[in-house]
Amino acid sequence: MRFDVMTLFPDMITGGLGQSMIGRAIAQGTISLYTHNIRDFSADKFRRVDDTPYGGGKGMLMCCQPIYDCYQHIVQAADQKPYVIYASPQGRTFDQQTAKRLAEQQEHIAILCGHYEGVDRRIVDEIVDEEISIGDYVLTGGELPACVMIDAIARMLPGVLSDAACYENESFYHGLLEEPQYTKPAVFRDRAVPEVLLSGDHAKINRWRHEAALALTLLNRPDLIK
Ligand code: SAM
Repeated sequence: MRFDVMTLFPDMITGGLGQSMIGRAIAQGTISLYTHNIRDFSADKFRRVDDTPYGGGKGMLMCCQPIYDCYQHIVQAADQKPYVIYASPQGRTFDQQTAKRLAEQQEHIAILCGHYEGVDRRIVDEIVDEEISIGDYVLTGGELPACVMIDAIARMLPGVLSDAACYENESFYHGLLEEPQYTKPAVFRDRAVPEVLLSGDHAKINRWRHEAALALTLLNRPDLIK
């Protein structure tokens, strides 16, 4: 899978994704990540990328031209039209199912990161396939959402984690939260690991895990049970 990120702050993307398993997948070529500084595509002699909003109001909006030229550069470099996502608080909320759909259906994703008050709506109408929010709050820019989305999508691609079971058994994949987990030692400050996990009886352990996952989901996220 190829990811391209259109941003004013490329270092936030490479810094956010260059470590751990995603960083290794990039280094090994299992996934490709390209960042593009939108400012490099500005036709303005002062390399400006934003301007005041029509109709008045506070703040600045990112202009269409540098973003459009940046997008065209990606299309030409990759020799294909990417599936374009605009990271936006006004989009549909990102979740595991969205990450799974994108991992399964797309081979090339480009993410547009807004900044300031956001972007001129016409660039969204012109190039964007899907507008995605990472939650009901407003961040300063789309860079952290882009990292969140790329991480969640990339870890479901073949070869990124050691085994599909690594993500299939996790929270949300089958609709529930994952059950509580424990590692050594068996007792920590008088808190013992549930005895069933030491029993070696895998049928019993699986039943306990399912019941514990249900109980935790009911407690923390009853909306998921519905
Ligand atoms: N004026 C916009 C509004 O009220 O909806 C908010 C703009 S925000 C300060 C600047 C940029 O951050 C957005 O263009 C978007 O790319 C990004 N952003 C902020 N919150 C986000 C969220 N919850 N999910 C995804 N992207 C977000």
